Amino acid sequence: MFDHGLQARLMSVTHVKADSPVRGRRAKGTGLPRRIEDELRKQDDRFSAAVENMSHGLGMFDADERMIICNSNYISIFCLDAEIVQPGIRFFDILQHSVDIGVASHSAEELYAIRKPYIDQAKPSTYEETLSDGRIINISHRPLASGGWVSIYEDITEQRRAEQALKEQHRRFDAALANMSQGLLMYDADSRLIVRNERFLELYHVTPADFPLGMSHHDTLEQLVRLGIYAEIDIDSEISKTTACLHAGEMRSTYRHLADGRTLLVVRRPMSGGGWVATFDDVTERRRVEERMTHLAHYDTLTNLPNRSMFRERLDQALGEATDLAIFSLDLDRFKAVNDTWGHPAGDWLLKCVAERLQRCLRNETDVVARFGGDEFVIIQFNPKGAGPKGAGDAEKLAKRIVDIIGRPFRDKSRDMHVGISLGIALFPDDGRDADTLLKNADMALYRAKSEGRNVYRFFEPGMDAIVRARRALETDLEAALSRREFELDFQPIMNIASSEIVGAEALMRWRSPIRGLVPPDDFIPVAEEIGLIVPLGEWALRKACTVAAGWPRGLRIAVNVSAVQIKSGTFARSVISALAFSGVPADRLELEITETVLMDESDTVLKTLRQLRDLGIRIALDDFGTGYSSLGYLRRFPVDKIKIDRSFIRDIDNRDTAAIVRTVIGLGAQLGITVTAEGVETEAQLEFLRKEGCVEAQGYLIGVPSKAADIQRLLKASVALSHSG
Ligand code: C2E
Ligand code: MG
Ligand code: MG
Repeated sequence: MFDHGLQARLMSVTHVKADSPVRGRRAKGTGLPRRIEDELRKQDDRFSAAVENMSHGLGMFDADERMIICNSNYISIFCLDAEIVQPGIRFFDILQHSVDIGVASHSAEELYAIRKPYIDQAKPSTYEETLSDGRIINISHRPLASGGWVSIYEDITEQRRAEQALKEQHRRFDAALANMSQGLLMYDADSRLIVRNERFLELYHVTPADFPLGMSHHDTLEQLVRLGIYAEIDIDSEISKTTACLHAGEMRSTYRHLADGRTLLVVRRPMSGGGWVATFDDVTERRRVEERMTHLAHYDTLTNLPNRSMFRERLDQALGEATDLAIFSLDLDRFKAVNDTWGHPAGDWLLKCVAERLQRCLRNETDVVARFGGDEFVIIQFNPKGAGPKGAGDAEKLAKRIVDIIGRPFRDKSRDMHVGISLGIALFPDDGRDADTLLKNADMALYRAKSEGRNVYRFFEPGMDAIVRARRALETDLEAALSRREFELDFQPIMNIASSEIVGAEALMRWRSPIRGLVPPDDFIPVAEEIGLIVPLGEWALRKACTVAAGWPRGLRIAVNVSAVQIKSGTFARSVISALAFSGVPADRLELEITETVLMDESDTVLKTLRQLRDLGIRIALDDFGTGYSSLGYLRRFPVDKIKIDRSFIRDIDNRDTAAIVRTVIGLGAQLGITVTAEGVETEAQLEFLRKEGCVEAQGYLIGVPSKAADIQRLLKASVALSHSG
């Protein structure tokens, strides 16, 4: 810094102008030629100006540790008194002076002891001295070849503070980086890696050496692929996508599925000064939950089949593509009975099995079976060929397959469960062009299938909806009718043929609807059975009939029709007993008319109930004999007390074959000790035939039409009086 030439020049400084703050020792007269002396003075002036204009403080000392020169920066840094600090002053005295004026934070001896070894050894060095006011002064000590030294002083307080602040900022940044739950990489504007946190390394199970700072974005991606962390990705396209987003000032997020099964969310955000930050988040668990949620939103939890909303999505999509479709609406038959008999867990198990079987029925990969809830299922069949009510198309084949497969027993542990399935089918585009219409029409067809005996399929037909609407209206009216007391009972007398005596009467129900007028039982009993209304309605009829019969002459029987649904309901025996107790009618005066379907029931409960009632003395009559399966085998399963030959046989009795059947039944009854009653007797000829054949009882318009309770009571009383008098 100070060469020897300069030093020589410094040593030759002879004078400093009085107004110059540069303090130098004045050289004595040299006796040099005037030209040289002028030259020297010029150099001296230039030097003084240079020293004075330095931004640092400067002090120069000779071998005797006396000050040769200093500048005003030096004076002001240490707040020295310029009068005292004059050339020639000893270095120690300056130190002492700084102590005296309170600038130094150490004693003069201490300060001197720090400096002394360097002065003695003539070694360059740099110190920092903290002044009493907290300022930090950097002192650079440079020995001179001729002995002595130069010190350069710089106030670095501000610089230090900035450095400290920066250091603190770095510390915080590092702490934040290290404690982030996300991995982080920062790239500069040249796509070079400049920051990478621990978490990044942890997430990918890699070392710092795998991803050194300075690495390019391209190399980072390549490394991730090379290490088998990322599957093969198109690096160039990845980079151009990221670059495009960042240039547009947008962030870019992507999910990365790692080879180990985890999912990471990578988000790149542009930084204001160029470059970007990429964060890496392990979202495996979150994704799993999200996937589970979407699954739940789209699939039925019990059967894992698509649910209603998923089905709608698929259907709308299919309709958009305008391919031919068949929509199936399905509903299990007797599912409620499974739940009631075996309990809900068994019901759930059955639904799962049904779901599996339905799926197996589908032939086309793309066909969809969904569960709408309860025992309702729906199917989309794609491109059914030759579908339709005519011709055995694919839709019909599928329907047959389903009816067959669901009709087979479901075996669980020791149980055998039986259900059936009814299907309604609507075709796109013929039966509707939008999802709502198609589903509605498939439902309509299902409704028809249900009312036509179950375990069947029906294609939608125009006009079905009118029928269905009427039927729905009937159901609604019927449901309200019981509480509105719109039902009535008529009574039809039954006569013993041999004695011509009235032996009792049958209660026949009527519905006096304010809107529909008088509705016959054939029109509403099947509906009441289907909607379950028959149970309370039948109970009402039993009670009412018994109450009326209680006023009849002793010994006259009351016959009440009961439906299979009632007997299966489980509360039947109790309601019969309660009706008897309530009315005071003895059990042997009550006759329950059942049909063959009751005896066809496979479960023991029905037969058990009937036996229980029979044990109480109640008589059981088999109604409408000859119309159903008329298998005499049922008579063996349950020994009834009475057989009622259906009125269609009596009407046809002129026919030889029919007459033969009637004759056989009468004979059979006589042999088995079963009372035989002929229904629908309208003519004397019919009655005559029956009397000749030995039929026990007759019922029909000839004997008496169904009449009001009061009328029948009068008739019965008169009849009894007549027989007593006769
Ligand atoms: P059902 O038990 O066989 O009743 C006899 C039906 O034949 C009655 O029809 C009766 O009016 C009719 N009938 C009686 N004599 C003659 C005749 O000489 N000629 C003709 N053509 N018909 C005659 P109704 O009252 O319309 O009842 C029809 C069916 O409704 C009954 O057949 C029965 O199965 C059912 N039913 C009636 N009341 C009830 C009830 O309270 N509960 C249940 N579950 N079913 C009932
Ligand atoms: Mg009857
Ligand atoms: Mg009948």
